[in-house]
Amino acid sequence: MTEENYNVYNTSIVYDYKDHPNIKSGRCDNCGNAQFKISVKGFIYIRECRNCGMNKSI
Ligand SMILES: [Zn+2]
Repeated sequence: MTEENYNVYNTSIVYDYKDHPNIKSGRCDNCGNAQFKISVKGFIYIRECRNCGMNKSI
């Protein structure tokens, strides 16, 4: 992952959808990218932005 100038969100933590609803549906809140990697941890889906690496539980 490259260093980006997207410093609004910390990419090392997982944001909760309830606390951080999508600003734009289907888009990363941090960089606006629309491609994600989805992983499942327990019953929680983690959506990771492929561009900036922001994580959000959905
Ligand atoms: Zn992003």
